[in-house]
Amino acid sequence: MVNTQEENNTLEQAHIDFISTVSHELRTPLTSIRGFADTLLTSYDRLTPEQREKFLLIIKEQSNRLINLVENLLTVSKMQSDKELMIYKTVDIKPIVDSVIQIIKNQYKTHKYVCNYDTNLPKILIDTDKLQQILLNITDNASKYSNEGTTVTINLGQNYNDGTVIISIKDEGIGIDKENIDKIFNKFSRIDSPLTRKIQGNGLGLYITKTLIEKMNGKIEVQSSSKGSEFKIIFKAATPEDNGLVKIKE
Ligand code: ADP
Repeated sequence: MVNTQEENNTLEQAHIDFISTVSHELRTPLTSIRGFADTLLTSYDRLTPEQREKFLLIIKEQSNRLINLVENLLTVSKMQSDKELMIYKTVDIKPIVDSVIQIIKNQYKTHKYVCNYDTNLPKILIDTDKLQQILLNITDNASKYSNEGTTVTINLGQNYNDGTVIISIKDEGIGIDKENIDKIFNKFSRIDSPLTRKIQGNGLGLYITKTLIEKMNGKIEVQSSSKGSEFKIIFKAATPEDNGLVKIKE
């Protein structure tokens, strides 16, 4: 397919915008790492041990921010070039959700995590690693956009009428205004408010999450108020023919 001149200009502009956003996202943590490393090198003897530790922790935190950004960019690049290998298997969701809760619990020690589930939950045909990545993104958001000590509730249920499996992740956090709900799934989109400014992120998580869910023929829905947010992920239940099936798709 050959693009028109207008389409080429739009693509080129999108490319320029992308490079400019990525450069900005890289420059902020890099400048901070260089600044604190410089201070440690030039003023090491004048700093107290507490100051040295504080600066080293900032360097570590900013390096983690860079690693997350680069990992997310690699995922976006693989998704856009359609080079992402998908390995579909029929699986139970509960153990995947349990493993995600274990990982997140280690990071957010004061939050509570509750998982309610339907014991007859059907299996779904899915790429397990991608589902884990999706659930980690949403549960991490549910935790980081809510106060310490609050509860994140995960409900696993099914809709008997349309044969779907529903994973709901509900938090008691800061919520998302109605006018911003559609924007949160865009690339590099972050809601700018005094509350979100204090929380680290690069605005790629939900873009990656939605793209992966739709790639696996699922849907994502959000409901939010000032009391918190609920993200629902919906997948078709596996059919008896899918059972034990492993499908590989690029
Ligand atoms: P980020 O890296 O900024 O967390 P995401 O793509 O995961 O990026 O989310 C996009 C934006 O959506 C966030 O910056 C935040 O403003 C908003 N958001 C996502 N999840 C929640 C949530 N559970 N509660 C409140 N706001 C949220």
